[in-house]
Amino acid sequence: MLRLGGRAWTWLYYVPTVASAALFCIVSLVTFGNLAQVQFEETAGHPGSQLNGAMASTFVAPIMTIAFIVVSFFVLIKKSWSRSGSGFSLGFVTAWCLLLSQILLLTGVGLTATKHLTGTFEASPKGVWTHSSTNAYVATYVLAFITCVFTLVMGVVLLTNRKSFGGEGQHQGQAPAENATQRVEDAYFNSYSTFGIHRTMLSDKVRTQAYRNALELNPRLLRGARVLDVGCGTGILSMFAARAGAAAVVGIDGSPQIARFARANVAANGLAAGAGGPIAIVASKVEKLAELPLPPQAQGTPQQQQRHNHTARHLQPGGAAQRGEAPAQQQAVSVPAKAPPEQQVDVLVSEWMGYALLFESMLGSVLYARDRWLRPGGAVLPDVARLYVAAGGEGATGLEFWHDVYGFRQACMEDVRDSLASDALRTALLRYVPARHVISEPASLHSFDLATMSADEQDFTAPFRLAANGSGKRECVGVVAVVAGACMRSRGRSGQQAGPQTCHAVVVWFDTLFSERFCAEHQVTLSTSPLSGTQTHWGHTVLLLKQPVLLAPADAAAAAAGGGAQRAAVALAGQLGMERSRQTHRRLNIVLRYAPQYVDGSAGQEEMVRYSISVA
Ligand code: SAH
Repeated sequence: MLRLGGRAWTWLYYVPTVASAALFCIVSLVTFGNLAQVQFEETAGHPGSQLNGAMASTFVAPIMTIAFIVVSFFVLIKKSWSRSGSGFSLGFVTAWCLLLSQILLLTGVGLTATKHLTGTFEASPKGVWTHSSTNAYVATYVLAFITCVFTLVMGVVLLTNRKSFGGEGQHQGQAPAENATQRVEDAYFNSYSTFGIHRTMLSDKVRTQAYRNALELNPRLLRGARVLDVGCGTGILSMFAARAGAAAVVGIDGSPQIARFARANVAANGLAAGAGGPIAIVASKVEKLAELPLPPQAQGTPQQQQRHNHTARHLQPGGAAQRGEAPAQQQAVSVPAKAPPEQQVDVLVSEWMGYALLFESMLGSVLYARDRWLRPGGAVLPDVARLYVAAGGEGATGLEFWHDVYGFRQACMEDVRDSLASDALRTALLRYVPARHVISEPASLHSFDLATMSADEQDFTAPFRLAANGSGKRECVGVVAVVAGACMRSRGRSGQQAGPQTCHAVVVWFDTLFSERFCAEHQVTLSTSPLSGTQTHWGHTVLLLKQPVLLAPADAAAAAAGGGAQRAAVALAGQLGMERSRQTHRRLNIVLRYAPQYVDGSAGQEEMVRYSISVA
């Protein structure tokens, strides 16, 4: 069976198609000319012509054909009909339209031929048949025959290659769920195809410098190493790795536009593999990569072989190395087969973190790449990710904005809160939470070990307990290190009374660590904590509570207990779960259960709220 796949096949298919289309444009023009004349003659002598249908089809078909050819040409040029872009499905539809327009034209030619053969034309009083040249009709039949052959071939190819022709980008014939998944996937990679998002990430110094330090200040790890940069974007991490002395770096990105840009960046800095540099950029989803373009000199050098043996004591995620087991197109399975040793890398680096750490579901792609391409014992950078939570005051939600708008209090504050809250109780708020709006000690929620975890472990539920800290005015001063998401040195605002605070939300953030396991010379913590004194482009994820909860440190809560005022809790305790949506691709579902805990040990009513964050 003829199978369509790569670009060469696409051109092989496209060129004859265009040739056949050009032929039947000529056919239809000739036919149309003849039919118009017959029509004219018949109308003059014999009212009630039956040629209208044939004329219409021979007229419409070439116009449609030309339009479809122009569209499909642009699709082919711009999107390469690649399997990963949205253009492929457009190409698929175009091909079908081309086929339909050919069928339409053949119907027109067929009708003409029938009339010719049954002698209808010759019945014309003015001898139309002799008038419209016999040669033109002969030419018409020959061209129609050729068109027929192409149409047949095209029909067979389309029908027998439905799956491979459509690939992942195929919309036609897919189940609605697959279509929706593809739409999300397209929206996701499109969102990374513009410079704006990459500028935002590159300008985030906390983020970018953390990676630079991890890569450039650990020469024992990087020098002479083979590196895979999963989701290379503009190529920045690949270039850090190259500057750190990596022997070969493969940067891969599922957004073809940004991969092109990365390739140009790498070339402009003299680092491209083709020009003697170490970096090769690939435009592909990492799950679809069939082979790593590692230069021969970087494959299995004695130094790397030694490194391999030396560090093989590290954990070995995924299956054992299996030579020659790489299928041409990998599907996104949870544990793929390990690539052959000469195709494995020593270091896998990726900046995969989304809002609330797990949004985007890119972690799954990194784990896939780890299992497939990282040699046993190889380094994953970063290797640890930790989630934290803390209680947030009203300022954490942004709702306090409505208390004072240019000096005016908004009378409809309750309505505003209700309206905003009804959204915020479904969709997590994404915003910066200044340290002064964090009103409890931070609590560690969950930790991921990127070197060993399985894809399923991305979904979790973990308990938390947020004890009131009383001031709600914590600020970091001259932070020298960030440990466990909290400032090493912090202070409350001077003179601040440790009194009750109203908790409106649970604030979520994360740190990622380049720990001493792989970064023995220089460890790095990339913290997005509101208490770190710096901001990152991730901001914080704010989960609004159904109703505010009054929190106070134990002594203040005990003192207030007898006063008849609203009862203050000493902590907010519960469980927080994160789960990748099974229905909506790349959606992150968050389930929060919480209840106030009182000084006497009793607990208030438990509430549950489901939030989500989704792509577009
Ligand atoms: N490494 C770059 C960009 C990070 S943003 C930097 O640090 O600046 C994440 C990038 O990963 C995006 O460009 C996105 O297109 C890419 N990406 C996400 N999932 C991917 C996958 N499965 N395969 C390849 N690239 C992916």
